[in-house]
Amino acid sequence: MSLFRDFFITLSNITYLNEMAKKIGPTMGANRVVAGNTIEQLIDTIERLNAKHIDVTVDNLGEFVNTKAAATQAKNEILEIMEAINKYQVSAHMSVKVSSLGGEFDTELAYQNLRDILLKANTYDNMHINIDMEKYNSLSQTLQILDRLKGEFRNVGTVIQGYLYDAEKLIDKYPELRLRLVKGAYKENDTIAYQSKKDIDKNYINIIEKRLLNAKNFTSIATHDDKIINHVKQFVKDHHIEKSTFEFQMLYGFRNELAEEIARQGYHFTVYVPYGNDWFAYFMRRLAERPQNLSLAYQEFISTEALKKIGLVSGLALGTLTLVSSIVKLLKR
Ligand SMILES: Cc1cc2nc3c(=O)[nH]c(=O)nc-3n(C[C@H](O)[C@H](O)[C@H](O)COP(=O)(O)OP(=O)(O)OC[C@H]3O[C@@H](n4cnc5c(N)ncnc54)[C@H](O)[C@@H]3O)c2cc1C
Repeated sequence: MSLFRDFFITLSNITYLNEMAKKIGPTMGANRVVAGNTIEQLIDTIERLNAKHIDVTVDNLGEFVNTKAAATQAKNEILEIMEAINKYQVSAHMSVKVSSLGGEFDTELAYQNLRDILLKANTYDNMHINIDMEKYNSLSQTLQILDRLKGEFRNVGTVIQGYLYDAEKLIDKYPELRLRLVKGAYKENDTIAYQSKKDIDKNYINIIEKRLLNAKNFTSIATHDDKIINHVKQFVKDHHIEKSTFEFQMLYGFRNELAEEIARQGYHFTVYVPYGNDWFAYFMRRLAERPQNLSLAYQEFISTEALKKIGLVSGLALGTLTLVSSIVKLLKR
């Protein structure tokens, strides 16, 4: 399956495709995993999830930010979302990416933008701000920024990627921070990251257990993997770990029934809700993780509405989907 993974991760990194995709807005099934591109649509989604006792972390989509103006715009959009969360009194916080705030070209600018976001969050009842973790080549920059901010703010946390050999060291480094634990979504090489599902799952379980036993702050276990979720449920029971100290998280649009069932069982549950026009790289990473998600793309693409939007991106996407579908058929033989 790594052929699929590499293919879609490569697509996610093509700036030109990302730019074109922004112009046509979420399509090809992305609108099932992205909560629209207006504040009204976003608040409506949050309210629907909150009604099912599910919290939300909002991701204002935006990658390949390479000017100061674009980074400032991204910050202002995040502030606007936070204002709406506060105004409508919905249960939600923010997930932000250093790259979308200027990190790709100016670390100090990204730090200042994040600091502005945290200052505003403080006025909104210490709204939590999670710094998402991106590719390995930005890890040390993200941690440098985090280390500066955590001295000043208590409502900042980050993500540890279980595929990294260093994941356990990072768990040990930040017991006092609110952390989200994930398997890891990017393509990294074997000098820094485990490659097989078996090794990644093993290290992921290892860091989850270590964290839950030693945490001095809240932990989010973000996975759609029912084997891991069941393992965690048993582990916390065996070790008398309070349900109030951790939660499960999933991405918007995936495994909705399982998410609702876990919330009904009395576990904290948060859904990660991507929002905005810059949907392409995010959606390609989701296809990379799970080729079955292609059926979303196919169903949507052949609908009349999507065909009306046909253009360069759609044409490319159709080509891509056809190619991948042929590969799937070949592999099934
Ligand atoms: C809330 C959240 C935030 C995240 N933040 C980050 C981040 O900041 N940085 C980062 O690198 N990554 C992030 N990720 C992505 C993460 O690293 C993984 O790439 C992604 O979650 C896929 O791995 P998985 O744990 O869900 O399990 P996988 O290994 O993809 O799947 C394991 C098994 O789970 C089941 N399964 C998975 N998905 C489905 C489905 N849709 N329907 C039915 N069964 C399914 C299948 O049995 C599958 O074999 C985040 C993920 C989540 C959920």
